[in-house]
Parts: sequence; C-alpha cells; structure tokens
Amino acid sequence: MITNISSDAMIIRLMPERRAWKELDFENLKWNVEKLSALLPEGCAFMAVVKADAYGHGAVPVSTYLNLIGVRAFAVATLQEGIKLRRAGIRGEILILGYTPPQEASLLISNNLIQTAADCAHARALNAAAPYPVKVHLKIDTGMHRLGERAEHIEEIASLFALPRLRILGMYSHLCAADSQEIDDVLFTRMQISSFLRTAELLRKKDCDPGKLHLQSSYGVLNYPDLPMDYARFGIAMYGVLSSPDAKLLGRVPLRPVLSLRARIATVRELKPGETVSYGRRFRADAPMRAATVTIGYADGLPRSLSGRELPALVRGRRTHVIGNLCMDQLIIDVTHIPEARPGDVVTFLGADGPCCLRAEEMAEKAGTITNELLCRLHVRDE
Ligand SMILES: *Cc1c(COP(=O)(O)O)cnc(C)c1O
Repeated sequence: MITNISSDAMIIRLMPERRAWKELDFENLKWNVEKLSALLPEGCAFMAVVKADAYGHGAVPVSTYLNLIGVRAFAVATLQEGIKLRRAGIRGEILILGYTPPQEASLLISNNLIQTAADCAHARALNAAAPYPVKVHLKIDTGMHRLGERAEHIEEIASLFALPRLRILGMYSHLCAADSQEIDDVLFTRMQISSFLRTAELLRKKDCDPGKLHLQSSYGVLNYPDLPMDYARFGIAMYGVLSSPDAKLLGRVPLRPVLSLRARIATVRELKPGETVSYGRRFRADAPMRAATVTIGYADGLPRSLSGRELPALVRGRRTHVIGNLCMDQLIIDVTHIPEARPGDVVTFLGADGPCCLRAEEMAEKAGTITNELLCRLHVRDE
C-alpha cells in the first residue's frame, strides 16, 4: 500500500488512483520537527505523539519516517497502538499514555513498551501482576483530574519506588489550559508547572529518582517553551496544524500541514434557476449554475455538520465551495466559475493546489470542533 519510505521520497501518496485519498508530505513533517525542536531548551528531547493512527496521518508511515530523521521517543494512547509500532519495527522509546489493565503486563514487557502508571493503585497492581520488572512513567495529577496521582500524595508516590517489579523511568503531568491566554488559565497553568516541579523535588529529597520529566504538549511548548524538562510531547503541532485558527501564533512558528485530502469529480451538470441540490433541498440555485459531484462524503470522515457552511474546495488551482448537504459517499460543489472542470479532476479539501492552500484549522472551525478531532476522524475508505 505504501511503498518506498526514504528521505528522498518525501511525498508519499496513499493510493492516489482511488476515489478519495490522503497525501503525506514528509518534507513538511521534517520542517515541523525542526521548527518545534528549535523552541526547546538544551537537553529537552522531542517526543512524537502518534496516538489515534498519528491523528489520522497513519502511525506506521509517520513513525517510520520520524525514526529515519532521528526521533527516538514516541507516545501512543493504547497497548495495541504500541504493539503495532513495534511490529512495524519502530525503534526507541514508546510510552503508552492511557490505562492498560495490569493483566497485560507481560505484553508491555515483551514489546518493550513503557506504561503510564495512572495512579498509585494502578502502579501497585502492575507491580503485582508483572512477571518481570515493567517500565513505567508515573503520572501526576496537577489539576486536570483525568489521570495521575494527586501531587500532594508525596508519601504514597515515594512508596512506589520500593516496588520490585516497577522500573520507574520517568514522571509526567498534563497541562489542561496551556492554549489559553486568559489570565485565570495562565495562573492555573503556572500553578500546574510549579506543582509538578515541586513533586519532583520532594521525591529527590527522599532519595527517589523520578527519572525523565515531561509536562508540555504542543501548546505547552508554544506558550511555555522554557521549562526544565527532559521531553516535550508533540501531537497536533508536529502535523503542522494548530487546534484552532491563530494567525499570530502561526506567524511566530510557521508550521506546515503534513496532510492533504483529495477526491475526484464524478459528474458535472447544469442547474436551472430554482432547482435544489442534495438531500433536504437546502441549497437552491438562484441563477443558471454548474455543479460537480465529488467522490467523498461523511463516511470518509468529513463532518456532515459542514453542510451549508460553504466548505472550501480547490479545483484546477481555483477556489470554490460545497453546496447542499454532504452525503455519506458524495458531495456537490459549485463549478460555475471553473468551466474546464471535468469528471476525473482532482478536488482538494485540505492542502495545496496551485497557489491556493486549505488549512484544517478553518475546516475544523466551520465544523464546530478542533483540528485534533477532525484529523483523527478522517478515515478515507479503502485506504
Ligand atoms: C494527546 C496528548 C498529547 C499531545 O497533545 P497535542 O495537543 O496534540 O500536542 C500530549 N500529552 C498527552 C498526555 C496527551 O494525551
């Protein structure tokens, strides 16, 4: 399906002959890794977050390429995602960010995966179930209240260091409002940072070595770049995308989107004034028009909530938009002003065509979500 991943073959086309497909631009991925690494202080390493099939980009091709350009630390959400990377030959550290049942400890060990200890109880259960020492990073709850042992439970956290079948290699926490510039959120984030650093300090005072420390994800680095950490966990920004539109931030850190999304024109037809398009008759032509039907729909991951929102599309380097409701397998675009449009023409929904480029931030905003959700739900069929 995917052939020839090397630094020479920078652009990998995933089945371009199909009705709809994604393209990955590995040169842009490399650019983003370099730009983001440059923000990090000396000694802080790049950890690539490739959960949810690398946010819809394909975890195996993305991680394989990252290995090739020297990335040595990865994070996934689940045990199965970690095993998939190992089976594909990915080298370096792989940290599972989510919960893994203690009964699966042998799989963690045999696949050389690092498990997050979701709290002290989980850490003790892993220790009890593991036949051999299992590698873990302890998670500390500094205010998100999702995973992690409460930062103030120092005695209980320190007691984990005596457990014989836990190899504690690191400790981390997660910021929950690092993207916000609101004063309340900035103060909360600073509290999270100091609570995490204090936890590490108190453990060291008790002769417990917390190992590698990490706290920031994409916005954590973009807004708080100078923290004394050993890793930064990059998800969305590594893919060249922010969660929501922010021209100022993109001006400062010029990220380049890795993913393009394209489909093809199936048919072109004339519309008479007053005729309507697609289910529900939500779009009505008020003058003679030409409409093209395109081979992609909401079953391929384009949110149906984009209906009626003038979702932009590019045809022959020119910009147009979707008209009427999106269907499961198809949608319809206006090509009145693109008279050369023909069946078989490529239609771009994300990425560049000629001088125009469509970004995921705008599509996600129109769909009422963030790019993280939009991208990880793009599942083009047959790919
Ligand atoms: C998903 C995730 C990340 C990556 O977040 P981005 O905002 O996409 O950079 C980092 N850390 C944890 C714990 C996560 O769950």
